[in-house]
Amino acid sequence: MDVLEDPALEVLGRVFGYDAFRGPQREVVDHVVAGGDALVLMPTGGGKSLCYQVPALLREGVGVVVSPLIALMQDQVDTLRALGVRAGFLNSSQDRAERRDVEEAFLAEELDLLYVAPESLGGGASPTARLLERGRIALFAIDEAHCVAQWGHDFRPDYLALSMLHERWPDVPRIALTATATPATHAEISTRLQLDDALHVVAGFDRPNIQYRIAPKNEPRKQLLDLLRTEHPGDAGIVYCLSRASVEKTAEFLVGQGIPALPYHAGLDQRTRATHQSRFLREDGLVMVATIAFGMGIDKPDVRFVAHLDLPKSVEGYYQETGRAGRDGLPSTAWLAYGLADVVQQRKMIESSEGDLAHRRVLSAQLDAMLALCETVECRRVRLLAHFGQESAPCGNCDTCLSPPESWDATIPAQMLLSTVLRLQRERGQSFGAGQSIDILLGKRTDKVTQHSHDELTVFGIGTDLSEGQWRGVVRQLLAQGLLAVQGEYGTLALNEASGPVLRREREVLMRREPERPTRAATARAR
Ligand code: ADP
Ligand code: ZN
Repeated sequence: MDVLEDPALEVLGRVFGYDAFRGPQREVVDHVVAGGDALVLMPTGGGKSLCYQVPALLREGVGVVVSPLIALMQDQVDTLRALGVRAGFLNSSQDRAERRDVEEAFLAEELDLLYVAPESLGGGASPTARLLERGRIALFAIDEAHCVAQWGHDFRPDYLALSMLHERWPDVPRIALTATATPATHAEISTRLQLDDALHVVAGFDRPNIQYRIAPKNEPRKQLLDLLRTEHPGDAGIVYCLSRASVEKTAEFLVGQGIPALPYHAGLDQRTRATHQSRFLREDGLVMVATIAFGMGIDKPDVRFVAHLDLPKSVEGYYQETGRAGRDGLPSTAWLAYGLADVVQQRKMIESSEGDLAHRRVLSAQLDAMLALCETVECRRVRLLAHFGQESAPCGNCDTCLSPPESWDATIPAQMLLSTVLRLQRERGQSFGAGQSIDILLGKRTDKVTQHSHDELTVFGIGTDLSEGQWRGVVRQLLAQGLLAVQGEYGTLALNEASGPVLRREREVLMRREPERPTRAATARAR
């Protein structure tokens, strides 16, 4: 078809400078231009924005984009303006005059796209909602739509109120978009936003250019430095840490090693965060060391690696964070270091979390899925995609495909460890962290062992066939497989229902064999 007879293609070329739609974009654009609703699940970098930007330019009225990314609105609007698109935003960072200008432009239909924060719609009675009533709306785009899923990994209560869009503006098409959704989250988005009758588009979630690797954590900073020096010298990348403190320390460490790194976490003031973010976007070869507060909506094509120094809480989080690598399609690395302390800490956090039982179960199931990905002897990508309901064949570009791990029969060591925990629990009514059980099995007369007369237990010294590092691996994998539990605020070990069959020799335990490289530093840290 001639471009002249194809308005969507004409806009794509004239405004955005592209000559063809990619993947499912065409189908979505046509559907929304014709006034239909859509729910689009597409990986990061897949091209979600054009799915609503093109229809907004083709339909009468203003396209209203609901986005939780207030910090990025200015950037998004600037980018669009540079292309000649009339874009504006309304959020809490503006003063009265700025706001009035945008409101007037909206009412005069002198805008193509208006970005608003979900909280500013405030269930419908807010000034922004009242403003929207008075103008003409081309469509509603609901970005990061997974935020509406209550049991999802990134729930935002303000998103629940967005169900009112359908009731108040029944004739305005709505398009919800997200880069992460398991089948369950997909269904929840559909129900909550009343999109059951919408066009559902699920693009392939595979990111073939990303090499997934998950390594046992020994000396995380040193391992990280190795990765950066040998594989990614001079490259831009993101390093995720769990806590603000470790963000600061890791960034300092990298700078000390001559690698340009910047910290980013919610404890830094707004201006520092904004400066660091824009430097990361604009300068070459910067490493951003951040908590997960950083990254949503960041569009930097040449992020060559994403490294996790701590275990993500869910596969969705992991997929979303690693997905920030390699948007340009070039080879990139997703590297995660994970160890026993991660498992203990996360299980402990769930145990002691405020939420009700149902909520804790969801968190626990999310962690289990993440641990299964870490401990698998299969292709990482196959597991990852299966989590999002997609089948695939071994990829040849992940650590387990590149050097297949062996599994070993760990039934006997598993029994030894579980009986140690059992004896402490039953004979002594005590519970301890992993280190104590390991010391007992290794026959170490530490102060804490002699003080509690643990050297008199029958299991004392029966585990000298394995090294301390191997024992830590055993504990970690028992926790990961759910055969052992963590309890209380100190994260002590405890048996659970699944421990019984192992103790009674009714089931085998297979584990992933890993390179033996325990270090004193790693051991000291996890105690
Ligand atoms: P997402 O929001 O899904 O992460 P974006 O909408 O930011 O992805 O698009 C990712 C990149 O791909 C952007 O740089 C965008 O300009 C580019 N892109 C999107 N659609 C096309 C297309 N049809 N042709 C060429 N490039 C495209
Ligand atoms: Zn693979």
